[in-house]
Amino acid sequence: MKSDIRVCGDWEATHERPVYTLGDACPECGAAAVNSAPAPFNPEEPHGEYRRRARVRNRDGNSDDE
Ligand SMILES: [Zn+2]
Repeated sequence: MKSDIRVCGDWEATHERPVYTLGDACPECGAAAVNSAPAPFNPEEPHGEYRRRARVRNRDGNSDDE
């Protein structure tokens, strides 16, 4: 999915919060607006650690399985 919404490319230095626009430039400071791509977030990453630990099973022979 592509979004046409852009954000002021210099908002971190010029504004206190992101300034969004549909144009090519920030309407407030005139800086070039850049594509407001969402920050990369990988929900799988934190679970990878747990999944790896979960793979370690009780192999001490204390299995309750008959
Ligand atoms: Zn701006």
